[in-house]
Amino acid sequence: MSKRVRVRFAPSPTGPLHIGGLRTALFNYLFAKKNNGDFIVRIEDTDQKRYVEGSEKHILDSLEWSGLKIDEGPYRQSERDALYKEKIEELLSLGHAYYAFDSKEELGLHRKSHEKKGGTFIYNYHNRLKLKNSLSLEKDETKKLIESGKGYVVRFKTPKKDDVVCFDVLRGRVAFPANVLDDKVLYKSDGNPTYHFANVVDDFSMKISHVIRGEEWLPSLGLHWLLYEAFDWEKPKFIHLPLILKPVGKGKLSKRDGDRFGFPVYPIKWVSQGEGIEGYREKGYLPEATVNFLALLGWNPGSEKEIFSLNELTKLFSAKGLNSSGARFDPEKIAWFNQQHILLASREFLENSLQEELNESGIRYDISKIPKIIDLIRPRLDLMTNVLRASACFFEAPKAYDQRGLDKLKDNNSFKVLKGVSVIFQNSSEFSSANLRAAIQDYAKASFLNFGTVLGLIRMAVVGELSGAGLFDIIELIEKTEAVKRVEALADYLNR
Ligand code: GLU
Repeated sequence: MSKRVRVRFAPSPTGPLHIGGLRTALFNYLFAKKNNGDFIVRIEDTDQKRYVEGSEKHILDSLEWSGLKIDEGPYRQSERDALYKEKIEELLSLGHAYYAFDSKEELGLHRKSHEKKGGTFIYNYHNRLKLKNSLSLEKDETKKLIESGKGYVVRFKTPKKDDVVCFDVLRGRVAFPANVLDDKVLYKSDGNPTYHFANVVDDFSMKISHVIRGEEWLPSLGLHWLLYEAFDWEKPKFIHLPLILKPVGKGKLSKRDGDRFGFPVYPIKWVSQGEGIEGYREKGYLPEATVNFLALLGWNPGSEKEIFSLNELTKLFSAKGLNSSGARFDPEKIAWFNQQHILLASREFLENSLQEELNESGIRYDISKIPKIIDLIRPRLDLMTNVLRASACFFEAPKAYDQRGLDKLKDNNSFKVLKGVSVIFQNSSEFSSANLRAAIQDYAKASFLNFGTVLGLIRMAVVGELSGAGLFDIIELIEKTEAVKRVEALADYLNR
């Protein structure tokens, strides 16, 4: 029987969750669900200096909004100190780690003198015996230094070998020349483990089967691999996800690209020092669309189909569809996904969203008309933030007319045309969309008017602009009195 699939999303609470981080979480989640495994969240907060208040909450709230349910956790590394202490002792006793006492100043001097000679200072088997550590010093001197309270770090004793040969599921063999790997600090002088150490210890002790993370962690793989070997632990499989590239030009997508191109970079709003930056949620994107868009950023479902629910994705996902080259971020594409998911959204969700907005704005409405209104606005709705705007004409007469549109439409005859429309509306016995359309068509024909122009004038009167839901459907819904009122109002306006 093969091992149970257990994956983890391991963000550091050093700032809000970026859309790229959410993609990493999503791929972990999909991989876990597809393989009936566990999706674990681990907050990697060993670096207290970089801790940013509120970021853990932002990360967890973003996952919740996106629908990624956590099976285990969130664990916090800051609560697992005893485990790291135990494991560092173990590594020291295995002879794969050592205490080092070199001060910052001393290391700085070494660095400088190497640079002068055109080289780089690397703390490893080349020179560790010339430096101040438990390998070069006598036992009792080491003991004294440890007890002196002046502080020390624990370093990894990088083995002397040619290449560290690792495997990544997407890239195959990845080799790192061992002579450039330095003896990384595993335990800091403040008594905390470093990212690398805590990360590997946790992945092992949490029985993580697959490490799925961003490509920016690939350079750390050599060290992580060696740590597994030093402990003689079975390694997980590693999958380093392709980078997300800027919408145009070279390089990785950054937070600044969002400002530059005007798209959100966070799943949900991030508030820091009283200032809020809106996320996809606040900009009117559905979580389903955001997740669908992110899933296709670096992963290929193997067919032309693009629209998937989270549930469908969990059934389809396979690491085989992951690309190893970077995926370009296209903010227009996510807008398209949003429209597609609004078309698929449940009627209840859209009705509730509209009612919430109406209640908040204090607009009075007839609840029995809400379902019909949703049917009429849904096909054109792009962002949930536009739900009120798209349906305003059902509740209120236009507050203003789109002047440019009106200028193009109107002529000396417009007043008369509108008066004629008003009479037709008033005399209509069955005030239905189809009836009204036929009546206006007849009217245009009999009066030698351009039907399009008549429609434009009516739309301007009813909606205030030349776009929106089906005109006669709107008119049927607002009913006779209101329709006549609006047509008369535009006629009056033109007659001023
Ligand atoms: N804490 C790392 C980060 O913030 C996690 C890297 C990993 O997944 O191993 O991205």
